[in-house]
Amino acid sequence: MVKVNADYHSIARPFIFPMIEAKVAKHPKPVINLGIGDISLPLIPTVAKAIKEAVHKMEKTPVGYGPSTGYPFLKEAIIENEYHQYGISTDEVFITEGTKADSIAVQELFCQSACVGLLDPTYPAYSDGCLLSGKTHRFPLPCTPYFPEPPEETLDLIYLCSPNNPTGIAMHRELMTRWVAYAQRHNSIIFFDGAYAAFATPSIPKSIYEIQGARQVAIEMRSFSKTAGFTGLRCAYVIVPKELLEGKVHALWTLRQNIKCNGVSYPIQCGALASLSQEGKKEAGAQVNYYMTQTKALREGLQERGIPIFGGIDCPYLWWSAPQGVSSWQFFDLLLDHGIVSIPGIGFGLQGEGYVRLSGFVSPETVQAALDALPLLIY
Ligand code: PLP
Repeated sequence: MVKVNADYHSIARPFIFPMIEAKVAKHPKPVINLGIGDISLPLIPTVAKAIKEAVHKMEKTPVGYGPSTGYPFLKEAIIENEYHQYGISTDEVFITEGTKADSIAVQELFCQSACVGLLDPTYPAYSDGCLLSGKTHRFPLPCTPYFPEPPEETLDLIYLCSPNNPTGIAMHRELMTRWVAYAQRHNSIIFFDGAYAAFATPSIPKSIYEIQGARQVAIEMRSFSKTAGFTGLRCAYVIVPKELLEGKVHALWTLRQNIKCNGVSYPIQCGALASLSQEGKKEAGAQVNYYMTQTKALREGLQERGIPIFGGIDCPYLWWSAPQGVSSWQFFDLLLDHGIVSIPGIGFGLQGEGYVRLSGFVSPETVQAALDALPLLIY
């Protein structure tokens, strides 16, 4: 008899979103949702226009499968806008449907015995991906809430996310330089998730390739999701430098894309291209500023109330430390009693216990409502 894939059972952690929804559904009044990890503004006009034009073109001319690694027009725009100064070339850019799937897929390229370093708390896809692919050597890197220094032990693969979800903190240049040097010393590969790069303040490295030597040790993933409002459209990219393991990683990733993908849809790639035009960058940048304005207002409002809060300067997430001895779920319940929805930190790893995550992907009215609700809190 056929058996199901037991690796799926190895994901023992509870899925927190259905649990949150169930609790919110029981709450008697409308809630103030600060748990949102999704965009809350409509699509920018320049992207909408480009997508509509691409669809109109397809009404007149057949546009079939595109290149499995992405259209050159989008790769060239990505290089011109983000990477030309770091010596990355267009054939090192791979257009994909999303960083979530990419972050799981990249570790498929490496052997089962590889030891994987995972931040804790972390974006859950990285650890779930390791479990699903049977990578049993996992090494926790406590991120409580600041990024850790590289460890003494040798890690083969390391997931780093900066600016970081869920802690909302970005890695400064000196520490990133030490991680790159560590990877060089240990022949490790860093998977660098830059999904929130657009939110970082100027002193923070937006790309790991800003660090000398990173092309020999790092794969970088970026997404249009939060940067240009593509969560409902789906477009991202992976940079795989040819220097990694003497070209072997680039060759394998190319092969993987050819085997598993038939490309991202033409209209969506046209939309992504439009987000990199002068007008597109202005509109997308205004949305990023809008989210960071709400994040700042929330952060400052909480700090004025003496609340210990982390993050929210380079990333639209705030990481809130619960009172001593109060668990993430207990604190979630306490906030929900006052109508505020947060995300329990335990959902991002064991070291997330005792924290909740708040999001700045909200309106000014939501921020105000949350701050108004807070004086009622028994802290
Ligand atoms: N990486 C991080 C750190 C994220 O927080 C998210 C979404 O919340 C993603 C990746 C997902 O990106 P995408 O929408 O491109 O799959």
